[in-house]
Amino acid sequence: MEGPVRVRFAPSPTGALHIGGAHTALFNWLWARHTGGSFILRIEDTDLQRSTKEYEETILAGLRWMGLDWDEGPDVGGPCKAYRQSERQELYRQHAERLLEAGLAYRDGEAVIFRVPEGVEISFEDVVYGRVSMMSETLKDIVLMKSDGMPTYNYAVVVDDASMGINMVIRGEDHISNTPKQLLLYDALGFRRPDFGHLPMILGTDKKKLSKRHGATSVYEYRDMGYLPDAVFNFLALLGWCPRDGREVFGRSEAVRLFEIQKVTKRAAVFDMDKLNFINQEHVKSLPKMDRLEMTLPFWKELCYPVDSHEREYLADALELMEGRGQTLRKMAEFSDYFLSFDPVKARYDGSAVDEGKKPILRRFYREMLETEPWKAEEMESLARTWGTSEGIALKEIAMPLRFMLTGGKVSPGIFHVAELMGKNEVRARLSHFGMA
Ligand code: GLU
Repeated sequence: MEGPVRVRFAPSPTGALHIGGAHTALFNWLWARHTGGSFILRIEDTDLQRSTKEYEETILAGLRWMGLDWDEGPDVGGPCKAYRQSERQELYRQHAERLLEAGLAYRDGEAVIFRVPEGVEISFEDVVYGRVSMMSETLKDIVLMKSDGMPTYNYAVVVDDASMGINMVIRGEDHISNTPKQLLLYDALGFRRPDFGHLPMILGTDKKKLSKRHGATSVYEYRDMGYLPDAVFNFLALLGWCPRDGREVFGRSEAVRLFEIQKVTKRAAVFDMDKLNFINQEHVKSLPKMDRLEMTLPFWKELCYPVDSHEREYLADALELMEGRGQTLRKMAEFSDYFLSFDPVKARYDGSAVDEGKKPILRRFYREMLETEPWKAEEMESLARTWGTSEGIALKEIAMPLRFMLTGGKVSPGIFHVAELMGKNEVRARLSHFGMA
């Protein structure tokens, strides 16, 4: 391959951006950014029945959400203006005409068909799969233009890749069997062949090809479940590739720096939700506090929690305290509900957490706790310890009911830290509601 890398992502706008498509787009983008080349977006909308403008828009929005910007294509302009196959009809017609004149193609009614030569060995060196070769006898003649005047995929893709100067084709392994046909067309049209790298298949944990059965398939569903774009990016990058040092959690610029298309493996990659969750959690943890808040707000709002009646700083601190609890933003928003409202706590609290016999002593403790100055977790905890020793009550027996009354559950960050952040008045209000202060 000569000159700067020119790769492309060529989605058909017949559905949302799904995991497989996002994976292909990502690997093209990574290779373009790693090499300082260009990433081109081309909309393959020759299937008039199934292609829609809405799907095209969701694909573009999905790519933007993932942070995969393109250098040429819709909304960008560039040297080659039409990036939708439906706008390139004339080009396909002209080249088909050339093949007809050269006697390499024939007409069948309105359709134009390429005559596959006999006895030709078609082979190529795939960057991922190695040498692939096929005898031309195994191929039927190739339809170039259909009778409705539209080009077929195998033909349009060759005319487009060649005329857009694409010198490396990176796409899913499901296209590997199309490549020999496309190579015949490159040769017949006198176009220079690009390099090819087919990406491994993506499987579910049951080792079956990833599909709707395995859960969410469009990248939007992941956004809506509370996965960060950086985490989805990181996770998809690991399907078929990993940095030489084996690390699993990395940011965009590290991925760009470390990515090598030659290191992609042909071994099928497994889409493992546990790993995605782990990676997401790591990215959530490393977000700057206020960014984490911004990204969590929509989830709280969706749950109808009164975000606007709290200070931003308080909410951000609550999330900071939640660190590590909840692997997605949605889960974090759910698990931290008690910081925003007392209602869910009341709804969850069933009273059985507090032993009747212990109530008097606990009540005395909580009342004294509410006098703590300064209102600090450490102060409350040391008070609880002193009390524990003198009154013969374990720290846990004090902390657990407190946790139930403040959060409505039995798991939370350190409860005295929760109390500190909620503030004395709120803690008093919650405890008095349960008759404990
Ligand atoms: N439009 C084709 C697809 O979505 C593109 C395949 C290719 O990259 O050549 O599968």
